[in-house]
Amino acid sequence: MGAFSDRVAIVTGGGTGLGLGVALELAREGAHVVVASRKRENLDAGVRAIEEAGGAASAQVCDIRDADSVQAMVADVVATHGRLDVLVNNAAGNFVVPAEEYTPNGWRTIVDIVLNGTFLCSWAAARHWIDAGTPGVILNVVSTHIYTGCPGVAASSAAKAGVANMTQTLAVEWAGHGIRVNGIAPGVFPNPTVQSQMHSEENLDGARERAARTVPLGRAGEVHELGKAAVFLASDDAAYITGHTLVVDGGNWLRRGHLMPEYRTVPQQMADRGLR
Ligand code: NAP
Repeated sequence: MGAFSDRVAIVTGGGTGLGLGVALELAREGAHVVVASRKRENLDAGVRAIEEAGGAASAQVCDIRDADSVQAMVADVVATHGRLDVLVNNAAGNFVVPAEEYTPNGWRTIVDIVLNGTFLCSWAAARHWIDAGTPGVILNVVSTHIYTGCPGVAASSAAKAGVANMTQTLAVEWAGHGIRVNGIAPGVFPNPTVQSQMHSEENLDGARERAARTVPLGRAGEVHELGKAAVFLASDDAAYITGHTLVVDGGNWLRRGHLMPEYRTVPQQMADRGLR
């Protein structure tokens, strides 16, 4: 019996990248995982990967920016499985651009997915749990940019900081309903199924080699390590933890101080990495 036997989890963006890594670990612990995103091919690939690993999964097409789509997802999951136990808000959008070059639409799109989408999914799940009188767990995948900002991805960084703040607020607002709300902040996790443009410029070996030189613990993270941290926060072992964001990054975001590398503007850094 795993920690999530008979439990049902939704993982947004669970068909690809780190979301799939979290979904695989939840499934390994016995959860039925519903992977949810816009593109059927991503969802099918995620379900296939989970089933090949011996887990149980299904797919739900959903655009987290659309309240009707999100409410339909929660209603479908509850109608099909009779319950919902865990919501992992992992879906996100991001692209690298100097802040002065954002279009208003580009900025709004990222904030709409990351901040508004995370709230809409949390809101729909919480309304179900509150109406049903059942407990629930929300886990928000953010980034260590919530602490530092991040030149080149200002919209995502700001939106993730909003999600981290929202994690604290909702943890308190919904504690009385038995709903825990936590976050997880990944560092460098090279993964072949990550779709984000953020990692397109270097192959997996390159990303690992760079992490070996830069991350204090001397290596990149393995996706299952992120998944295990997520499983802990979502499990009953973390029953007294709410409103917390757990950093899983090998100490990377703390690597600062007087010996930091020379300052480079975002356009210079993009040129260095072959992005323009
Ligand atoms: P990814 O592979 O690009 O995953 C993004 C996922 O979000 C995709 O499955 C995508 O599926 C889904 N998605 C995008 N827009 C959506 C929408 N409007 N509605 C529903 N689903 C949507 O990226 P990733 O790198 O694994 O990132 C996963 C999470 O980890 C994100 O929250 C990211 O910010 C965070 N993170 C990643 C890293 C890293 O090193 N990779 C580091 C720190 C934090 P569809 O296209 O099918 O909708």
